[in-house]
Amino acid sequence: MSLTVAIDGPAAAGKGTVARAVAAHFGFAHLDTGLLYRAVGRRALDHMEPVEAAASLRPSDFSDIEALRAPEVSQAASRVAAMPEVRAALVDFQRAFARRQGGAVLDGRDIGTVICPEAEVKLFVTASDEVRANRRYRELAGTGHEVTLAGVAADLAERDRRDAARATAPLTAAKDAVLIDTSRMSIETAVQTAIDAVAAVHNARTRG
Ligand code: C5P
Repeated sequence: MSLTVAIDGPAAAGKGTVARAVAAHFGFAHLDTGLLYRAVGRRALDHMEPVEAAASLRPSDFSDIEALRAPEVSQAASRVAAMPEVRAALVDFQRAFARRQGGAVLDGRDIGTVICPEAEVKLFVTASDEVRANRRYRELAGTGHEVTLAGVAADLAERDRRDAARATAPLTAAKDAVLIDTSRMSIETAVQTAIDAVAAVHNARTRG
C-alpha cells in the first residue's frame, strides 16, 4: 500500500511536530523536506554552487541536524529554495519517497501543490506570526542557539516573504488541503485533527 500525506505551511507553524506524530501513529516514513534545502543552503554557505550542491547531496550532509537549524542556514535555505534549478534537482528524490510502500508523510512548502498534487491527504498547518516567532524562539534558545525574539521574528518574516513571493513553487495551500490553524490550539488537538484526517482515508483503504 502506498499512501502519501502532504503537510505544508509556513515556518514554525507546527507542521514538523504534526508530521512526526502522524508518521509514528500510522507507521509511515517521514521526510522533512526543509532539511534538503537546509543542506543545500549549508553547502552554498561553504561556497558550493547551489545547483551542484542540490544534485550531489549525500547522507553526511545530514549528520548534524541541529547545525542545519541555525538561523543563518535557514536564510541560506530560503535563498537557494527560490532557484528553480535547485528545486528541480530535488523533485525526483521527494516523489520517490512519497510513493514508497507502507505510507509516507512529507512536510514542506510545496508538497501538496507541486511535489505530490495527487497525495491522498493534504494538510496546511499555519499559525499567527506572533505565535510562530515565540515557538521558534523557545525551540532555538532551548537547544543552545544564541537568538533574540526580535531576531527570530525578523528571520521568519523575511523567509515567509521570500517563500510566498518566489515564482517557482511558492508557499500556498492546495485547494483541497485541510487547514489546521494552531494559533490557539494545543499540539495534542492539532495532532489529533491531522490523525483524524489521515484515518478517514487510511481506514477506507485498508477496509477496501
Ligand atoms: O521547513 P524549514 O523551515 O526547515 O525550511 C527551510 C526553508 O527551505 C524554507 O524557508 C523554504 O524556503 C525552503 N523550503 C522550500 N520547500 C520545501 C521545504 C522547505 O522551499 N518543501
